Amino acid sequence: KSGFVTIIGRPNVGKSTLLNHFLGEKISIISNKPQTTRNKIQAILTRDTYQVVFLDTPGIHKPKTRLGEYMVKIAKETLNEVDAVLFLINPSEKVNEGDLHIIKQLENVKTPIILVINKVDTVSKEILAKTIENYSKVFNFKEIVPISALKGDNTNRLLDVIISNL
Ligand code: GDP
Ligand code: MG
Repeated sequence: KSGFVTIIGRPNVGKSTLLNHFLGEKISIISNKPQTTRNKIQAILTRDTYQVVFLDTPGIHKPKTRLGEYMVKIAKETLNEVDAVLFLINPSEKVNEGDLHIIKQLENVKTPIILVINKVDTVSKEILAKTIENYSKVFNFKEIVPISALKGDNTNRLLDVIISNL
């Protein structure tokens, strides 16, 4: 099995940490290649039975920046062309404004969107439950997976979910 995945989310939610966790020692960042193409390949995770190519989706990452229509168009095309989108958030009882901005851009996307609640090591079960409850109200996520990218908690489950969508 092989396919394409993109990790989106506000700055500091843990996107790089998650990528590094998945890749570990076998990290193969090719981000120094000139970005002449629309999508930047960030890394490729290769195992015996599957290969996952992680693509960057510029434009979605910076909700505060005023974006040209072209960037938004490209970003949305990427979202529609990959096999799964990982939308990373921090646990938050109230849906974060920046997250809402990203969610608005996901409205017409047909690709499965997996909500990844990162940094669960920093919050109580109650706050995690509220996060799941409130984010579920604003978008129909294909799956919701709580993880700690830093500690590696539940990241195998996330990988299973990714692979099942390839
Ligand atoms: P990015 O901007 O989305 O790429 O976020 P980074 O991967 O750079 O992470 C931002 C900060 O959050 C760093 O200080 C990370 O160490 C921290 N961080 C990432 N994942 C976790 C996690 O699961 N738990 C905790 N406690 N901190 C995390
Ligand atoms: Mg980063």
